[in-house]
Amino acid sequence: MVMVETTLGPQPPDALGWINAHDHIIMDNGYTVVKTPDFKLDSVEKAIEEVGRWQHAGGGAIVDAQPFGCGRNAAKLIEVSQALNLPIVVPTGFQSQGFYLPDHWQYRYDEDEVTELLYAEVAEGVDLNGYDGPIVKRSPVKAGFVKVAGEYQVVPKNMHKLIRAAGRVHQRTGAPILVHTGEGTVGHELLDRLETAGVPPTSVMLCHMDRNPDFYVHRSLAERGAFLEYDTPSRIKYQPENLVVGLMREMFDSGHGAHILLGGDMARRSYWIAYGGGPGFDYLLRSFTPRLRAEGFTDAELETIWHHNPVRWLTGALEDRTQG
Ligand SMILES: [Zn+2]
Repeated sequence: MVMVETTLGPQPPDALGWINAHDHIIMDNGYTVVKTPDFKLDSVEKAIEEVGRWQHAGGGAIVDAQPFGCGRNAAKLIEVSQALNLPIVVPTGFQSQGFYLPDHWQYRYDEDEVTELLYAEVAEGVDLNGYDGPIVKRSPVKAGFVKVAGEYQVVPKNMHKLIRAAGRVHQRTGAPILVHTGEGTVGHELLDRLETAGVPPTSVMLCHMDRNPDFYVHRSLAERGAFLEYDTPSRIKYQPENLVVGLMREMFDSGHGAHILLGGDMARRSYWIAYGGGPGFDYLLRSFTPRLRAEGFTDAELETIWHHNPVRWLTGALEDRTQG
């Protein structure tokens, strides 16, 4: 059995329960939160309270999507995880470019150097200093996936190099790839570049895809084997929920339900009940999942979305146990 690397050590997939496929538990001090103070999610105490809501609502493992260099603090993630006995999957890799100052080392280091840094986080353990300085202190916790990012309508030139490095790490370790997309655009180009770098689409999760809830696009990406993560539920500023519910129905009815994952992407204080905002980390389970049931989604379909699909992405299991 392929184990999943988490803050609680390698876990068998069955121990992960219902998996939140994209969220943000800690965003520590640094450029990101100075630029946008609403991103500052630095309190372990509040994270325990907020993630506790998710857990209380029946939630299992959480995929944290904030890599080093833009607020990841692995020690804090481990503290939250241990306090709740809830596994968190820790990222390595790169966010979208707006999270970094233009002098970040990702622009200077060559492909070999970036590859080795990513590889060490997956194979040995994540740097507790987040690759922010000359001293590297490896945690025993290993990164569970590599993140790369597209931007709105473009894959920037520097990201081509970072994608090649991520591909080499995937080839050496099997680590899956999480991809930030700008409003759900350039999905095919991202898959093309990853495929060229040695990553099959079946190991790729394209995130924020429901920002562009276009069934034709989603079906074409799913037909290549990619996983599609949706996270607009509750965020009405992007679109009303009926659009994502309808898209999910179309995906299942056309035989592509095995490609859909859900995440909260609650990357702002103003989204957290613990910081006085809303709707909170438990929204997807407390409100959106009951809505899916009310709109006709079956228990088996919900299990597919919440457990089987994220497990298949995390473990690279090709077997589709959920359809036909
Ligand atoms: Zn995110």
